[in-house]
Amino acid sequence: MSSLVQYSDSEGENSDDHDAISVDAVSRKRKQSPQSQNSVGNEKKIRSTAVLPLPDTIKSLFSKGDKHLDNPEDHEGRTRSFEHLEGNWATHISVPYDPDERMRELIGELLLCLRPLDFKPMKELHLSLSRTVAIRHHWIKPLTDSLQNRLRSLQRTCCEFSSVKLYTNDEKTRTFLSLAVSAPGNILQEYTKAVDECFEEYKLQKYYKDPSYHISIGWCLHDVIPEISKETLHKLQEILDAALEENTDLKLFTVENIICKTGNKQFSLQLNKGYG
Ligand code: AMP
Repeated sequence: MSSLVQYSDSEGENSDDHDAISVDAVSRKRKQSPQSQNSVGNEKKIRSTAVLPLPDTIKSLFSKGDKHLDNPEDHEGRTRSFEHLEGNWATHISVPYDPDERMRELIGELLLCLRPLDFKPMKELHLSLSRTVAIRHHWIKPLTDSLQNRLRSLQRTCCEFSSVKLYTNDEKTRTFLSLAVSAPGNILQEYTKAVDECFEEYKLQKYYKDPSYHISIGWCLHDVIPEISKETLHKLQEILDAALEENTDLKLFTVENIICKTGNKQFSLQLNKGYG
């Protein structure tokens, strides 16, 4: 594990929250979650304060605070997929993807093609290797250590974009426009197998039995798949094919490391330096 950095946006309000914050001004103003702010701050307080017992009235004040009241309007209408509980850290494993200007333009063009449906671009692009799961704060270290140990033996790889695909989350509260991704052999399946095995030690939900690897490039509220015609899908595919034919290098990207995001922390997990 090479680095540990803090990233600013982590409320874990949705199993898809890791990936889908719109780039508009409203989202930039979003507050940091009380959970992520408090977890670290509380630790410091616990270490540094004397042990005077708290009156029951004060204690009950804080135990009520375990449940976080959620207002979907604060999150562009998105709803939580699992309950927000104090001390639970939303955790997700993925391959980061950094689009260049040409890819950003292509994404804009694809999203425009879906108008009048209100698809928004993803803030951060990634290839998921896990679902978003909730872990306890004290699991972070052993879980990331175990992920790093497992992933170190797997090789880096090169991925290729192929078709345009639509997904919904399990709750069918959001639709995603995505680009399907493939890689040589079974390397992507090996990454998810490694993650699943580490998750299993903590009884965390595994990834899909039949994973369909992709990078989501836009999202929209609700299940709008029935509203997208075959013609529109065909048009999207034509736009993608034309852009990839013109810029053949855009078709490929390398997997050099894997990211574990948990709460407001981000760990970069290293793979074997060779390419598979
Ligand atoms: P992601 O961009 O990885 O967050 O994925 C977008 C959505 O696709 C997530 O909410 C996934 O739950 C959903 N999804 C549905 N079916 C699958 C599948 N077979 N493999 C991977 N993701 C899937």
